[in-house]
Amino acid sequence: MYPLFFRSLIFSHEQAVAQEVSIDKKNDVRSQYCQRCGLSVQKCFCHALPYLSESPQFHLVVHPREVSKRTNTGSLACACMAMCGFEIWSRQHASAVDCNRDIVVFPKALANEQALYRDLKELIAPQPQPPQSHDQSIPISPRFILLDATWQQARKMYRQSPWLHTLLHTELPLFDCPSSDCPSDSRYMLRKRQSEGHFSTLEVIAWIVNATGNTRDAEALQDVLAHFQSYFHS
Ligand SMILES: [Zn+2]
Repeated sequence: MYPLFFRSLIFSHEQAVAQEVSIDKKNDVRSQYCQRCGLSVQKCFCHALPYLSESPQFHLVVHPREVSKRTNTGSLACACMAMCGFEIWSRQHASAVDCNRDIVVFPKALANEQALYRDLKELIAPQPQPPQSHDQSIPISPRFILLDATWQQARKMYRQSPWLHTLLHTELPLFDCPSSDCPSDSRYMLRKRQSEGHFSTLEVIAWIVNATGNTRDAEALQDVLAHFQSYFHS
């Protein structure tokens, strides 16, 4: 059984508003939180969450400590998307991966030296059907794998997951990016950032969605994040 928000992702979007009682262990106060959007039951905005069915596929590999955090944005993004799965990371097992379509989103500076990188725009460019280029290194229908964790945890997860190293990699063009379309600084303020260029999981997903040309869904995700933040402490 998955605790808190990730448990609710097992259910469909339409089943939505699961509002269960949870215990605020830190304050030892009994509080009510919506397990889907993470806000208090009184401020639940599940009814306003978009359902994005035209975005690329994502798969989150979630650090166990991230699962119960109310500030987690990966589960919030998944709650809005038709094709977003997740698994709890464990060093004891290797994920069921598909080498033909899985792409690891991870900074090159921190990745395995042998990791093969492709430009994000190359990966999301429309592929001819059937493929005519004979370039087997670019999947026709990529699934983006994100490590949903703090940066410190993500580095450790990556290092201890050799199955990730064998997959194709890509990264966000955060620096030396000549286009005005490049991501600006993170707008997520509920967590202290460790350095410039560190984005929340939802923001990374929104950036990839935007890069596919689907600006409408990308903006919808950013709106969800803005709403979540504005009501989190209110
Ligand atoms: Zn809710």
